[in-house]
Amino acid sequence: MISFAQAQDNLHRLCQTWLAEQSDMSEPLALSESLDRYITEDVIATLELPRSDLSAMDGYAVCSQDQYGAIASQVFSLKGESRAGEPYKGDPLAPGECVRIFTGAVVPASADTVVIQENVECENKSVRMLHDTSFGANIRCRGEEITAGAVIAAAGQLITPNMVPLLASQGIAKVKVRPKLRVAFFATGDELKASGDTLGEGDIYESNMASIAAVLRYYPIELINLGVVEDTPEAIKACLATASDTADLVISSGGVSVGDYDYVRQCVDAIGAVSDYKVAMKPGKPVCFGHIDGMENGKALFFGLPGNAVSSFVVLTELYLPAMKFLLNRERVIPNTQLAAILETDLSRRGGRLEFQRGVLSKYEDTAGRHTFRVSAIGSQDSHRVLGLARANCTIKIAADVEHISAGSEVTVSVFPWTDLQ
Ligand code: AMP
Ligand code: MG
Repeated sequence: MISFAQAQDNLHRLCQTWLAEQSDMSEPLALSESLDRYITEDVIATLELPRSDLSAMDGYAVCSQDQYGAIASQVFSLKGESRAGEPYKGDPLAPGECVRIFTGAVVPASADTVVIQENVECENKSVRMLHDTSFGANIRCRGEEITAGAVIAAAGQLITPNMVPLLASQGIAKVKVRPKLRVAFFATGDELKASGDTLGEGDIYESNMASIAAVLRYYPIELINLGVVEDTPEAIKACLATASDTADLVISSGGVSVGDYDYVRQCVDAIGAVSDYKVAMKPGKPVCFGHIDGMENGKALFFGLPGNAVSSFVVLTELYLPAMKFLLNRERVIPNTQLAAILETDLSRRGGRLEFQRGVLSKYEDTAGRHTFRVSAIGSQDSHRVLGLARANCTIKIAADVEHISAGSEVTVSVFPWTDLQ
């Protein structure tokens, strides 16, 4: 049995080896389709931003030629108007002249300052300044934010909603991004039935595939659902072979412990190689990963999940998801957000494996107004307890050699990626 840290390292290496054999593909996608995808090449600005000197306020663009801005009580004569989309087209302003201007409108080249409308009195075509205004005030200068040729998004970056205003403002219609990762998944178990089926004695409804799909839908992953496979080596081998020909990564659930009907490991070994089996983590000891030698598609990675619902979920989110993010961005493993939190109640358990106890994390304000996090473990931590999992929003990580943690101690929690902390 290897430690969790060792498993992370080995998994990383396995993914690196696999990536090194893959071509460096990219696909051009419309900006609206490219969210949550990783770009494959730098995006270069073709436009200056702003493209002209623009007014930052509603007011008057004046030709003051007074570098000290000492214009209080001066009267400027109004020569026209500049509004967004319709710049002033009259004669260049002479000193003592101005135009009405609105936010986002082009400042005439002959104006040097924009005076906000609250600071003037306007009568007919005479605009009297009530105060001084710093020379050059309220003008967004051409190119002050972005110069043409600047890198505005670097290769490897994830496209997030906050980047969209920048990319859209450059008129960028398409960006080159990494293709989706193709992930085929199946469950083994003759007791597993689909919702709607009648349950015979000892049957249960399949939940791990539903859970895999739920966790992975947040990522640029094409999910290939291969259904429930019979607990026979022939069926499992056939499924693995098909999966490896259509997918980059194959995820299985169940059939990896040491029971008489646990054939997954031997099947992967028969048509590929299991690189590791058994990880000192709790829940989820029966974990195995490796690769499958596909017929048409080269190698596919293989990540095996244990059958118990909570184990399967924890192994997927804590071990495999960070590795899948590495496969997506090809640069780094991205674990779930890790936070320090104060444990609310004593915690005792049998040591030996790194444990991920399901917990509820909440944010508190201390007496000094600082935010702190507190966490409490959820009741029973058995590996099939889906009720506790449903109530949790994080896992509390307990090091392999720790058996007791007192309330008030600081612990590390790993936050479920979809959690909004209130
Ligand atoms: P296994 O690893 O196949 O021995 O399964 C361990 C336990 O998890 C058994 O109680 C199974 O019935 C249960 N289990 C296995 N696969 C699933 C699944 N896809 N959904 C729900 N429970 C499962
Ligand atoms: Mg089974």
